[in-house]
Amino acid sequence: MPRYTENVTDIRDFIRRLPKAELHLHLEGTILPSTLVELSRRHDDRPLTLPEAERLYEFTDFTGFIESFKAVTRLLTGPGDYELAAWRMIERLAAQGVVHAEVYISVGVIYMWRNHDPACFEPIFEGLERARERGQRELGVSIYWIFDAVRHFSVPEAERVFRKAAELRAEFPSIIGIGLGGDERHTGSAPFAALYAEARRAGLRLTNHAGETTGPEAIREALAIGSERIGHALSAIRDENLLQELKVRRTPLELNPTSNVRTGVCPSFAEHPLRSYFDRGLLVTLNSDDPAFFGSDLANEYHLAHTEQGFTRDELRKLASNSLRASFLADREKAAWLNQMETIV
Ligand SMILES: [Zn+2]
Repeated sequence: MPRYTENVTDIRDFIRRLPKAELHLHLEGTILPSTLVELSRRHDDRPLTLPEAERLYEFTDFTGFIESFKAVTRLLTGPGDYELAAWRMIERLAAQGVVHAEVYISVGVIYMWRNHDPACFEPIFEGLERARERGQRELGVSIYWIFDAVRHFSVPEAERVFRKAAELRAEFPSIIGIGLGGDERHTGSAPFAALYAEARRAGLRLTNHAGETTGPEAIREALAIGSERIGHALSAIRDENLLQELKVRRTPLELNPTSNVRTGVCPSFAEHPLRSYFDRGLLVTLNSDDPAFFGSDLANEYHLAHTEQGFTRDELRKLASNSLRASFLADREKAAWLNQMETIV
């Protein structure tokens, strides 16, 4: 694969100017070590230093990543912490030219760490909403929330998360959908079929992590329960019939190449199936998943697509257009951004 030699400053500027949507981003995964130090000062008798905070982000495989993720989210305790984390996230999105993001909140984890206290979540959500409204007002970034359950906890725990999404959605239209994260190797999608059907009836959009650490059969299972977007979909490359089905259905794929490299499920960015999916005409989107943990961000993923897989400016523009098409924005909002996209050269 030829490596592009386009001027780095020029191409980074071009990428920043593209109006982009980020569709696979975990709030907790955006917390940088510097924000973690801020949070630690609020809560710990002996606050973390920056080098100590940075060490918490070191891991070598998927299991180690989950441990790091837990250590960081431990410091998110009250509504003000969530508000700070969300605000810092939105500032970074704006700086990259992200105009819209659909952000996972690990509601299942929030409940677990608070002994399933049914009253714990609303104040936290109000903190998130304050940050969201400020981001819209001051930075022009729109945010939708996706309530994420942990698939390997239990079906009743996921039910609690999804019902909370349905209940709050009447008051907060920023809650757009639900998702399932956690360990796919332990629990697939089939046990959640009835809950997904219920969520759909409640007007929630359905996302799902599938085929990150498991084979193509996990992606089929996710489609079978009505998942509208597939997170990762890394293993689809092993199943030609599945690829054809994803193409015909126009199923958006939320790809996260650097995430897959850092958790050890893909050998390198250059070998990620992004290029192969794109060339086949699948509706692929680029995303950063947990950027603070993986040392990347969305703009950098676009840049790596350019340097590691030879994506041209036109192709990068297509990726950005895909991200808006695959979003849950209203059609007229998508059209407005897509019109603007054509003016970026
Ligand atoms: Zn994810």
